[in-house]
Amino acid sequence: MVVKAAQAEGLTVVPEGGSLFTQDVTLIQDGNSTVEHNIPLHTFYKDLVQLWGQTQVDYTPTLVVTYGGPAGDPYWRAHTNVWEHPILSRHAPPTELAANNKRRVIAPEGDYVDDDSAREAGKIAAAGRMVSIGAHGQQSGLGGALGNLVVRARRLEQYRCAPRCDDHARNVIGLCEGCGFSGSR
Ligand SMILES: [Zn+2]
Repeated sequence: MVVKAAQAEGLTVVPEGGSLFTQDVTLIQDGNSTVEHNIPLHTFYKDLVQLWGQTQVDYTPTLVVTYGGPAGDPYWRAHTNVWEHPILSRHAPPTELAANNKRRVIAPEGDYVDDDSAREAGKIAAAGRMVSIGAHGQQSGLGGALGNLVVRARRLEQYRCAPRCDDHARNVIGLCEGCGFSGSR
């Protein structure tokens, strides 16, 4: 009912996924504008991809907080000097950045799941839907930057994020240009 009423008024409906596969599929079938958070599967098979590709529902897997294991946020906190980021360090208290980032917890490379999520999201993009990186509230101003890093530095070409996420942010979610820190690297 919410989706139907929103569609009638030209409104966007952006539900928070909950790492529940069947619920996520229901969100897709109901025609929500997007599904936020990754579908919690390691592999998307043809049944899901074909179903999704026939809808108008777009996908925001939110790579920084991927369900299923450590994701983009902990990966890039552990592998870059976040407290020295030229923009972030101008806008966040240096003591907070240092306390949250200087001491690192590192998992084996294969344990990180953000790249798996981005790879499978590429199948949804290939099926014709828009896919965006998403962000999250762990660190204001950092989620989008880390999501972009996941896609670019891990060479996930099939995700084709850079042009699409900007389009998505503008056209689907309704945000202005400049999601993440694109242009700062
Ligand atoms: Zn969330």
